[in-house]
Amino acid sequence: MSSISVLKDKCVGCGQCQQVCPFGAMSLVDGIATVDLNKCTYCGSCVDVCPTAAIVLKKDEAKAGIDKADYKGVWVYAEQRHGEISGVVFELLNEGKNLAKQLNVPLSCVLIGHNIKDKAADLIKRGADKVYVCQDPILAEFQDDPYSGILTQLIQKEKPEIVLMGATNIGRSFASRVAARISTGLTADCTALEIDPETRNLRQTRPAFGGNIMATILTPNHRPQMATVRHKVFKEAKIDENAKGEIIDFTADMSKILNRTKFLQFVKDETSHINIADADVIVSGGRGVGGKDGFKLITEFADLLGAAVGASRAAVDSDWIAYSHQVGQTGKTVAPKVYIACGISGQIQHLVGMSSSDVIIAINKDPSCPMMQIATYSLEGDLFEIIPQIIKEIKASRS
Ligand SMILES: Cc1cc2nc3c(=O)[nH]c(=O)nc-3n(C[C@H](O)[C@H](O)[C@H](O)COP(=O)(O)OP(=O)(O)OC[C@H]3O[C@@H](n4cnc5c(N)ncnc54)[C@H](O)[C@@H]3O)c2cc1C
Repeated sequence: MSSISVLKDKCVGCGQCQQVCPFGAMSLVDGIATVDLNKCTYCGSCVDVCPTAAIVLKKDEAKAGIDKADYKGVWVYAEQRHGEISGVVFELLNEGKNLAKQLNVPLSCVLIGHNIKDKAADLIKRGADKVYVCQDPILAEFQDDPYSGILTQLIQKEKPEIVLMGATNIGRSFASRVAARISTGLTADCTALEIDPETRNLRQTRPAFGGNIMATILTPNHRPQMATVRHKVFKEAKIDENAKGEIIDFTADMSKILNRTKFLQFVKDETSHINIADADVIVSGGRGVGGKDGFKLITEFADLLGAAVGASRAAVDSDWIAYSHQVGQTGKTVAPKVYIACGISGQIQHLVGMSSSDVIIAINKDPSCPMMQIATYSLEGDLFEIIPQIIKEIKASRS
């Protein structure tokens, strides 16, 4: 069991422990620090700030006592669907290589699926030093239980210090299961990763409180340090045709994996013919579009430009368009060459999902709204007048 105590002869009653305790467990009684054991989680924040080393913390070794030196290497989970490696994997390989270089350790990938071993070569060309491949007919389609069971077994065997995954539907679904099984921390939706050179800890930065602040999160006592990262946050690793790497087959102990689901059918989302996450040009509609009919105009405009259709959450919540089109904090992160925001005010939760677009064009009645302020080009006026006019001009220029 963990224990904490205050050495009364050393405590100077400065109150710093009280200020930093996130759980309100520290107080000053007669000028001496006192711990409320009902509230204390033994996190150690008070120990770190005590100027006289008056607080003695003994952590439960069975729970917290991992030897961090046993954990080496940076891993990227190579998410694939129907044999296609997801684009975010190549971005993670780029960032993973930077981290691995700083730590002076190899960069490895984990590829799980069926008949996918040939894809390992693509991962090596993008910078992986090693690729662990686990294949089985049961893994042909993603299912949480077998995939998380296999990744858990592999992590327990090989002990990487960092595991990165895409913040995709798949990554979000099973990263948390794996982290829980191996009793480590997971930081979701990171936008920056760096190594603290003194401690070798991974500094995992992500937006917090609705995107109003950036929080840097550490996993100082557990390994591996796990993080998910959204598509388009990092640039893709370049292809090196001459790169060399090792492919290692991993056979999981399937008898230890309980699969509680049965795969029945894969139903493709037919509503979005161009995936916004991969599009070079996006025409997005918000509440200003006014309804489902308004999105017909947005779609006509997008089709003419060969663009994908995006949407604000207000439009998705109103059921004018499917969730797969939503851009923003709780939708997709996009970084197209051109983002055209039609009738979108530009609240922070929307901006975090698209503000790294190369060129932003805003069409809005309100010149003072945030989207008009951050846009490269702002068109002030009614979108139902401006867009038909642009469509007419484009058609005329092509005829
Ligand atoms: C936890 C959380 C997560 C969220 N996640 C997301 C997210 O992922 N994505 C997201 O988008 N939002 C998200 N939101 C919601 C966000 O805060 C805003 O409510 C939403 O983005 C507003 O959408 P909008 O800009 O379309 O609507 P509004 O803010 O109502 O703006 C409508 C705009 O249309 C303009 N307009 C109206 N009529 C016309 C016209 N005829 N011609 C031209 N302009 C016109 C108006 O001037 C206005 O600027 C989230 C909120 C929370 C709390």
